Amino acid sequence: MESRYCPHCKMELTCWNAPPETGWGILYVCFNNQCTFYRNSVDEIENKGEERSNIGCRYAEDPANNYRAINLLAICPF
Ligand SMILES: [Zn+2]
Repeated sequence: MESRYCPHCKMELTCWNAPPETGWGILYVCFNNQCTFYRNSVDEIENKGEERSNIGCRYAEDPANNYRAINLLAICPF
């Protein structure tokens, strides 16, 4: 697998095997908790006035789909 880098925080993306029910297979995912894309998504969801959900979107790319960018919904660890 080639190396891919997050366009938001420049960290190397991690190959991640998505759960079978998502139908994605292998994805490249930015697991950096300080990533601006991730932090902004957490703030955006919290600013909608909903209960603190601790949900954010990580940046991901789908190598099976010409490296299309994906918003990977993830539980915020904080
Ligand atoms: Zn990132």
